[in-house]
Amino acid sequence: MAKAFASTADTKTQPARLTQLAENVYGYISDYDPNTGFIVGPDSVMVIDCRATPKMAREWIADIRTITDKPITHIFLTHYHAVRVMGRAAFTDAHTVMASRGTLDLIRERGQQDFESEVRRFPRLFDAVEEVPGLTWPNVTFEREMTLWWGDREIRLEHLGRGHSKGDSVVWLPDDRVLFAGDLVEERCALYCGDAYLREWRETLDRVAALNARVVVPGRGSAIIGEENVREAIRLTREFLDDLITLTQEALDKGADLKGAFDHVYAVMTPKYGDWPIYEHCIPFNVSRAYDELRGIQDPIIWTAERDIEMWNALQG
Ligand SMILES: [Zn+2]
Repeated sequence: MAKAFASTADTKTQPARLTQLAENVYGYISDYDPNTGFIVGPDSVMVIDCRATPKMAREWIADIRTITDKPITHIFLTHYHAVRVMGRAAFTDAHTVMASRGTLDLIRERGQQDFESEVRRFPRLFDAVEEVPGLTWPNVTFEREMTLWWGDREIRLEHLGRGHSKGDSVVWLPDDRVLFAGDLVEERCALYCGDAYLREWRETLDRVAALNARVVVPGRGSAIIGEENVREAIRLTREFLDDLITLTQEALDKGADLKGAFDHVYAVMTPKYGDWPIYEHCIPFNVSRAYDELRGIQDPIIWTAERDIEMWNALQG
């Protein structure tokens, strides 16, 4: 039987929980849906990503209101993926939306296609998607890094290099050594590599590791607490990339086409990672991108709803 497309068969709601990570710093964390977080400042609140739809965001805001009634004035986007940015309209007090230059470029270039494609891949996460008024646009961008001082707290927004996408950036709180990693680091959840720069991602992970975080909020999976667990999560993320790159290269060396490469990678990676959430969803996209990158296609080809289905039927059908 053909496998259900992407995550269309994943329909069970996952509650997210507020998790305090440091004074005035919280994660909003579920089993394996995209994580978010927020920082309470002297006068206002900054959210890190804004969920997939205004409805999903309002549910989160109701939980934020159990902690603080300060206005949510700042939004930081870790990267451009629709599942993390399309809830923006719910944040009616937010006057500042910050992102890296690379993220702005991607929203301009492929934000609409990504939105249409993501809604079809994972409908559960796009609850009441019809309320989304349009793409989410940053109005403050930075090339490599930007620092905010909220009271005496230093908040660093850093683009540490390309990886999961061209624009990935993290929130780093140096005093508390808390890191919001976006999708650069996952905690025992499959990596999505459809928009990735796979070899550069490994170098970017070196810079993530060099921060020496004590707490990491991964893109998906539970909060990672303690230096040793942080190191292990980064190691596992890297190993997933290593396996994908090495196995795809092996297939290419034998002259395999995309389907041949997929079959080879799938056969070796599935026993190791098959029980990680969203593995079946991600692996065809991952091999497609690895196959392109290793053949010299520098930038990820834009995914559209049509290209998604065509690829899926060819590889997972
Ligand atoms: Zn992502």
